[in-house]
Amino acid sequence: MKKNIILMGPPGAGKGTLAKQLKDELHLVHISTGDMFRDAIQAQTELGKLAQKYINDGHLVPDEVTIGLVKERLSQPDCEAGFLLDGFPRTTAQAEALEKISREISREIDVAINLDCDHQELVRRISGRRVCKNCGAPYHIESMKPKQDGVCDLCGGPLYQRKDDNEEALKVRLEHYDSETKPLLEFYSKRGLLESFNSLLGKEQLFDEVSSFLKK
Ligand code: AMP
Repeated sequence: MKKNIILMGPPGAGKGTLAKQLKDELHLVHISTGDMFRDAIQAQTELGKLAQKYINDGHLVPDEVTIGLVKERLSQPDCEAGFLLDGFPRTTAQAEALEKISREISREIDVAINLDCDHQELVRRISGRRVCKNCGAPYHIESMKPKQDGVCDLCGGPLYQRKDDNEEALKVRLEHYDSETKPLLEFYSKRGLLESFNSLLGKEQLFDEVSSFLKK
């Protein structure tokens, strides 16, 4: 079984949704740098104050900050069971740092799962996305409605629209993806670690295909 996993793909490709499904199925630790930053923003920590201005405009948080955060998290004992990195690495410097860190702590990456999705669908998904403020469960105003308007099915928490899920910030996020993150597909392909899946398959079929692959 592959247990040290990177989830890659543009914003809206479904990394977070898939990570939540895989985490339960395979008993892995879900490490989402976006969630870590949003938690820090909510708690108004120094990290949160720093990250906020980048995130709201769709820019990337500086590498040294993000790398330090991930290094600390990956070194914790629970990651021995295996981990799903969701939203990290996003730049070549982050990928190189991850290679070094994972070697140092003997938790080397087994596979980089890439989710392919076309541009038009990404815009549709992001502009209609709603998220639970308590547990982070994702919804969509048309294709993944909660049972009760504005209320999370899982925990009853309120649903909200992320500040960076607007047209302007999304444009910037997609530009960062194309220029800084997409080149990582080649980085992992060269190392024989890249495996791509079609994110248009739908949530359940995508989960089935990826989890069967990871169990091999
Ligand atoms: P996500 O929830 O993965 O879409 O991330 C939300 C935002 O957090 C991104 O648009 C970035 O501003 C920031 N962020 C998350 N992960 C990273 C990363 N690996 N490097 C830099 N910024 C990040």
